[in-house]
Amino acid sequence: MRPMYINGRFTNGNSKEAIEVQNPATEEILDSVPRGTPEDIEAAVGAAKSAFDAWRKLGANERANLLHEVAEKVHAHRGEIARLLTLEEGKPISENEEEVDWVLNTFRYYAELGRHHRGSVLAAGSSSQFNFIVKEPYGVVGCIVPWNYPLLLMAWKVAPALAAGNTVVIKPSEMTPLTALYLAEHCFDNLPAGVINVVTGYGLETGEPLVKHPDVPVIAFTGSLATGQKIASIAAPMMKKLHLELGGKDATVIAEDADPEVAAKAVAYAALINAGQVCTSTERVYLPRRGASKFTEAIVEHVKSLRLGSGLESSTDMGPMIGETYRAKFESQIADAKSHGAKILAGGGRPKNLTRGFFHEPTVLSGVDHSMVIMRDETFGPAVPLMEYTTFDEAIKLTNDCKYGLGAVLISNDAKKIKQFFDDVKAGTIWINDPLTDHYAGPFGGMKYSGGARELGEEGLDEFRETKHVHWDFNLEDKEYWYPYGR
Ligand code: NAD
Repeated sequence: MRPMYINGRFTNGNSKEAIEVQNPATEEILDSVPRGTPEDIEAAVGAAKSAFDAWRKLGANERANLLHEVAEKVHAHRGEIARLLTLEEGKPISENEEEVDWVLNTFRYYAELGRHHRGSVLAAGSSSQFNFIVKEPYGVVGCIVPWNYPLLLMAWKVAPALAAGNTVVIKPSEMTPLTALYLAEHCFDNLPAGVINVVTGYGLETGEPLVKHPDVPVIAFTGSLATGQKIASIAAPMMKKLHLELGGKDATVIAEDADPEVAAKAVAYAALINAGQVCTSTERVYLPRRGASKFTEAIVEHVKSLRLGSGLESSTDMGPMIGETYRAKFESQIADAKSHGAKILAGGGRPKNLTRGFFHEPTVLSGVDHSMVIMRDETFGPAVPLMEYTTFDEAIKLTNDCKYGLGAVLISNDAKKIKQFFDDVKAGTIWINDPLTDHYAGPFGGMKYSGGARELGEEGLDEFRETKHVHWDFNLEDKEYWYPYGR
């Protein structure tokens, strides 16, 4: 069993039981972690609270150096971390190497950003006064992370939270806790005790006590809409700062001018990377009615050529889904679409040659519409549903006909359409011709039911700082506007 990390020590805490961690490609048990308890959260929050004062008062250069050291350690262990990520999460190793690079570069980016400005100076109200704005850390930040990008989504919270001077308690997903614990052991050991703590466990037994804890003023959460809503209902009366990255149902619109082969590759990548288990996965594809058949044929042909298998094999394009519950939910959406008239053009079932693991074939559907669950609810699996549109205005209307607003993709070189798309589509990220490519300085997050938080960029640092205005008068003397009035 891999222990938790509390106050700089490895411990099983108060846990009496273990949670087994499964390899989704083989269904084998990889390892286990303690089933953390509310008392373990109490200990971790206590440690983070005690560490806060010294950490927030650390000079900016020293803090930046420590965060750079974390990045260098992640770099030194890149291979082992990517392998462990592949074992516990399932996606291909090349995607996991990229995830590790994102982690270390996020630490580097915020190490530098953290030593830049901490506020700003205002034009003073009068010449004897000084007005300035100070950005301050909140205190202990609770970071609750899902399983699909266990380290990247952790780093997008932890690196800016620490750079801003906060301390953190991390609650990884119960399905993918091993890599977070690996980082605690090999990459966070240079930080003072209590600055980072990792408590493993289930949502109700560790996540919720973290949300409820009076000494945790900020909850940074990435996960499902349902859990986000529950967290919000607990945290709102306590006036906590909520940073919520929730679900998505992103659309890709292919414009008439697009090359079918290129469009097919872009769509497949956007819909099927990490077996479609990305919050910004393309889950709806809109094709121009004129030329629909050439786009459809190119997509079907390309998707059929993709290779399923273990993420450890370099030739694998797509790995398994994370678990049986998620695969069963995915299959129910496919079955529902079929029962309402959708046609399966590629895939549609479990691969015959992979009897172990939670694999599902990448599945292309046509004849779908917005009355079907597969076009309304988050799918989080390897589906490529194709729907035709007549005018570009209609394509934009369809894109916006969704409760989520995380990202949206357009494949086109038509400048007028591109302008209309980024002006009129309500989503936090718009990708033109290069889906799902993020940028360290480019804020990432959603609109509508996707939650309003922003990660990365200066916005991502500001999520973990609160604003204080200081009004300073150099003259300690009686003011004419004080009492008594009418003097
Ligand atoms: P989930 O909501 O089931 O779990 C996320 C985390 O919350 C886990 O660590 C879990 O243990 C914890 N949790 C569960 N119940 C809790 C509770 N009552 N209180 C506190 N914590 C609790 O989500 P998941 O299945 O792990 O992840 C998939 C979801 O995450 C999808 O909906 C996906 O769209 C979303 N996601 C969003 C983004 C984004 O940036 N917007 C990125 C990745 C994933």
